[in-house]
Amino acid sequence: MENAVLITIGDEILSGNTIDTNSNFIATELKNIGIKVSQIFTISDEIETIKNTLRTAFEIGDLVITTGGLGPTRDDKTKKALAEFFDDEIALDEATFIHLKNYMEKRGRGDILERNKEQAFVPTKSTVFQNQYGTAPCMMMKYNNKLSFSLPGVPYEVKPLIKDQIVPYLKETFSLQYINTRIVSVVGIPESVLADIIEDWELSLPQNLALSYLPVGTRVKLRLTASGHNESVLQQQLEQEIQKLFPLIGESIIATSEDKIEKILGELLNEKKLTLSIAESCTGGELAKMITSNSGSSKYFVGGIVPYATAKKVEILNVSQKTVDEFTVVSEQVAQEMAKGCQKLFGSHISLSTTGVAGPGKGEDGKDIGTVFYTIRINDNEQTFRLYMPHLERLDFMYFVSQKIIQDLI
Ligand code: ATP
Ligand code: MG
Repeated sequence: MENAVLITIGDEILSGNTIDTNSNFIATELKNIGIKVSQIFTISDEIETIKNTLRTAFEIGDLVITTGGLGPTRDDKTKKALAEFFDDEIALDEATFIHLKNYMEKRGRGDILERNKEQAFVPTKSTVFQNQYGTAPCMMMKYNNKLSFSLPGVPYEVKPLIKDQIVPYLKETFSLQYINTRIVSVVGIPESVLADIIEDWELSLPQNLALSYLPVGTRVKLRLTASGHNESVLQQQLEQEIQKLFPLIGESIIATSEDKIEKILGELLNEKKLTLSIAESCTGGELAKMITSNSGSSKYFVGGIVPYATAKKVEILNVSQKTVDEFTVVSEQVAQEMAKGCQKLFGSHISLSTTGVAGPGKGEDGKDIGTVFYTIRINDNEQTFRLYMPHLERLDFMYFVSQKIIQDLI
């Protein structure tokens, strides 16, 4: 069991209405047990297309996983295609029906059981994996010595089916090993110097651990991969080895996982016991949204405001009208005064401010669209940056500017 092919079924994905997140999730989970996804197909809800794609998929991989098209509605045709492809018939499966009945009753929907009974009909050759979070069961079919699993499309049904049932099943049946990865992000040490410093540590790594270096901008990511049969043992092993890095390069380690930058920032602020506030104009709240998306942000995030109108910058943040008149509202000077006012307003150690032109068109003072000034103020020290990000759609502009600011703060 080495190669998998994923088939995402659904017109809503082809039309652009739904983003395929299932494939991303499934590929990651399979990678954790050493199965590589070699192709992903996205196809329409059509019986012939589904059958043809299944044929191609079985030529490529040992394992085929389909998602979508299992609902009781007319536009969902996966089950029929499966039956035809495997030369099988669809019949009521007693165990699935009992499961469905319990599922519906638990949710007080016993009255509509008849209409959903259809969901308990499966190809007779299939092995059913019951869906704990929805009405469409997952069906496993054997094809020579290959396997296929057909899952519903709803992501919150797909995740537990894959994680709690299919991955353990594959692991057990094919004696697969778990593969776990941790990333350690290191800043300020060039790759070759880093390799020298941690050489002894690297040489002492246990046999089942492998190390690789991934330089990204000014950082080096160390990727540690461990393989073995017991996942929690692997996790412990990885953690132990990472801890050994701290006496060597602890100052330069900014993260020990592939966490998002808002999480890395949160950990740093917590560790240093610093608080943060934000006054943002052209990012329209995006910065605050990003920062509060990290759970536990209340420990360091004091608050933020969006003083969009110039008058509000003056009124709430104490930006002087004279500065605005002299330098315009999108200026280094206004960004600085905003940060200062914000720090005072919220009483935080750190404050951030943004002022810029998100578009459309030039700012009222003639500044080009995409121009941003932002200030990072830490206690009495501050630094102001100018950024130019034209040609970005408004929301992307807000997002990328916010990302950049958090990155700089880290
Ligand atoms: P249902 O019983 O809900 O009809 P289903 O198996 O028929 O389940 P679909 O109708 O294909 O699944 O999709 C149900 C929902 O899941 C839709 O809202 C769809 O947008 C979403 N969905 C389907 N496939 C994917 C996917 N690959 N990634 C993310 N979301 C998906
Ligand atoms: Mg459907």
